Amino acid sequence: MQSTTLNISTSKSQMNISGTFNIFRLLTNPSLCLPHHTISTFDQLPIPLSQAFINRKNGPEKTKNPDIRAVVLDKDNCFSIPKQNEIYPAYTSKFADLKKAYPGSKLLIVSNSSGTSSDPNHAEAEILERNTGVQVLRHATKKPGCHAEIMEFFRSRPETGVTDASQVAVVGDRLFTDVMMANMMGSYGVWIKDGPVPDHGLVGGLNGIVVVKGREGGLKLFAAERVYAP
Ligand SMILES: [Mg+2]
Repeated sequence: MQSTTLNISTSKSQMNISGTFNIFRLLTNPSLCLPHHTISTFDQLPIPLSQAFINRKNGPEKTKNPDIRAVVLDKDNCFSIPKQNEIYPAYTSKFADLKKAYPGSKLLIVSNSSGTSSDPNHAEAEILERNTGVQVLRHATKKPGCHAEIMEFFRSRPETGVTDASQVAVVGDRLFTDVMMANMMGSYGVWIKDGPVPDHGLVGGLNGIVVVKGREGGLKLFAAERVYAP
């Protein structure tokens, strides 16, 4: 039996309304939080991203590779330490490779901190753009609910070549926001299990739901756990 711990981006000080609303969607369809590909840390990201989603079960001659034309990149605990707006030093080489493979508007940072209503005047988003050279989406709805804003961004930039959400990969550390959004929009999700530094979760907050895969292959939203950071 396999189990996956799901981190929920909910805190006492600031509620992710989109995340809270969409938990009901997850209760009826737990597979929404399952990633298409899992890596430990950002520096293990396969480039080009299409490599991550090849279905090897049928053999290469029967495989139709996904056509990934653009990448949505989370920030906190993905390529950056939370609350910082710079690339974690050990990841600069991989970040440069990603920018080279997906230049200009083909790479888009979508954070639930920088570029949202939690970021007054989007000052953090501007700093992040200066530090990374990558555009940061300004979005009214937090992940996982901002897929329409993401697709509007790509479709309004023909140079990305994106005409369908299946041409987009979403990379992030949160199953309930990044990966769930990828599944909701019909994209591909890459889950980064471990951030650049240990994440102790949210002090006193609801931190985990366990998704269990049974022998029959079905998925069940199994339990919630409370984790208290030291
Ligand atoms: Mg994150």
